[in-house]
Amino acid sequence: MKIQIIGFGLAGSWMAWELIKRGIDVVITDRYNPNSSSRIAAGLINPINGTRPRPTWLADVLLPFAYSAYHEMSSEVNQPLLTQCKVRRVFITEEDVRLWDHASTRQWYGNDFAGFNVMWETLTSGMLEGISYDYGGVEYGGAIVNTAGVIECVRKHVVEVDVPQEDVDFTIWCEGWEASRNELWRWLPFQPVKGEILDAIIDGQPLTTIITRSIWIVPVSDEERVVGKQSIRIGSTYDWDDLSDVPTEHARTSLVSMAETILGRPVVITGHRAAVRPAARSKRPYLGIHPTHKKHAILNGFGAKGALWAPWAAQQLADHILDGTPLNAETNIVRWWNQ
Ligand SMILES: Cc1cc2nc3c(=O)[nH]c(=O)nc-3n(C[C@H](O)[C@H](O)[C@H](O)COP(=O)(O)OP(=O)(O)OC[C@H]3O[C@@H](n4cnc5c(N)ncnc54)[C@H](O)[C@@H]3O)c2cc1C
Repeated sequence: MKIQIIGFGLAGSWMAWELIKRGIDVVITDRYNPNSSSRIAAGLINPINGTRPRPTWLADVLLPFAYSAYHEMSSEVNQPLLTQCKVRRVFITEEDVRLWDHASTRQWYGNDFAGFNVMWETLTSGMLEGISYDYGGVEYGGAIVNTAGVIECVRKHVVEVDVPQEDVDFTIWCEGWEASRNELWRWLPFQPVKGEILDAIIDGQPLTTIITRSIWIVPVSDEERVVGKQSIRIGSTYDWDDLSDVPTEHARTSLVSMAETILGRPVVITGHRAAVRPAARSKRPYLGIHPTHKKHAILNGFGAKGALWAPWAAQQLADHILDGTPLNAETNIVRWWNQ
């Protein structure tokens, strides 16, 4: 059986990986875009989301799955692709503390998902790594995935070629947000959203954790680090109207201002990029075989969660296409057909 995958981002990479593991002959066709979502993403996996803290969707399944999938790929390609890292959530108002306490009383978290120690510690008010925690904060386990690295690793194992569709038995569309303009899939309720991200340098005490509060600040481990300086990434913005990959002054100013408020020191910008996330209105991935074009399937809708969702979703879709295993009902695209 020969399967063509269209689109070589995180979705296409994990789909190819799953099919190759099953002995399928895979070809990938990609319209290279240096500003694709997967190429500029920070790759953060944050197990606790929202201003009102709650565990990420299907946390007990997806966190251990992602952890072992990235480790399996890393060991086969001999390159680390997932780095575990603490996440520090900074409280900047009384309301932040109240919302967290409210969530904690319901015992929503404190789970040790295999591979992800999501036990949390409360940070009392004071200074930590140069950041002022006037209202305290919490710290728990998360991870950073090298998303561009995943694509490059999979690239070594697949054939990239533009083949006519008559020459393949089946096609899996992994086009990211561009699927919302594809006649075959535009009936799915996509909500593409542009995001902007900054590369920056800071002085002073280096950060050892991901910092989050409305935005996130990720320390970057660079090999050629200048003494006393640290590279960080700052992100990200959400814009549902402008679906270009052009960075804007407005996003830059707002990210810098928020980062400097949290860090309490100036940041020097060294890079600024923008891409469009393939978000779904249902806030769940879109998987499945087309209801009438039975030789076509889709893997999409990862929004801001591609790093966590892609490995699991690709495995679900591979099992569905090859063995008829039912899909998770929340992700199955048939729920949107004829609506
Ligand atoms: C600023 C920013 C920060 C982010 N940070 C995070 C984060 O910290 N953690 C996280 O989990 N996620 C993050 N994301 C989201 C993440 O990037 C996405 O969830 C994920 O990468 C989507 O992968 P994809 O493969 O579906 O789409 P894409 O990465 O968009 O890949 C689609 C590919 O298909 C190609 N293509 C499209 N149509 C065709 C066609 N007809 N023929 C051939 N090729 C085609 C495109 O050129 C592209 O290469 C972030 C996104 C942005 C924009």
